[in-house]
Amino acid sequence: MNHTLYPRSFLDRCKPSGEALRQLPSRSALTKRTTEECGVGIYARRPFHRGELIGSFLALEINEVNQHSLQRAPGDYLYDPYFVGYLLHSCDPNVVLDMHQQTVYCLRNIAAGEPLMMDYASTEDSLFRQFPCACGAPNCRQWVTGRAEPVNSEGWLFLTGQLIAPPAGILPAASN
Ligand SMILES: [Zn+2]
Repeated sequence: MNHTLYPRSFLDRCKPSGEALRQLPSRSALTKRTTEECGVGIYARRPFHRGELIGSFLALEINEVNQHSLQRAPGDYLYDPYFVGYLLHSCDPNVVLDMHQQTVYCLRNIAAGEPLMMDYASTEDSLFRQFPCACGAPNCRQWVTGRAEPVNSEGWLFLTGQLIAPPAGILPAASN
């Protein structure tokens, strides 16, 4: 009986063994869910604790970026359409990936029902597509890029359109 998040066909294709097989997340721990605000994401079905191993993941090795691939090294991507390929983004993530061990760890306590969220810039040099972020974190970058690429022209338009207050330094001195 297969209790993992992965269908039998994907297990057969990736052939995990040993630790990786034992650490695959179960369907009782995680689930894929679609919401109107966030689209498809992976959600916790039980609480996880800070520092806990959420699970190992399986993936196909590919050499081109796609919307659900994650970068292991430049020009070297992993594609997992059942788990990590569908993690949502947050600028204040609650999980972190080890792309070489192919494991996911919990950065802070996660309650049942919460989405697992990674920072896409933690793995990607450049994103399949840059996008505006509404994660709501105090440190939200507003526009998400890969860690090694500049904000694109659409991003500049978005960011300057959002600019309500003038940048620090050109504010008029407060009157006494
Ligand atoms: Zn954000």
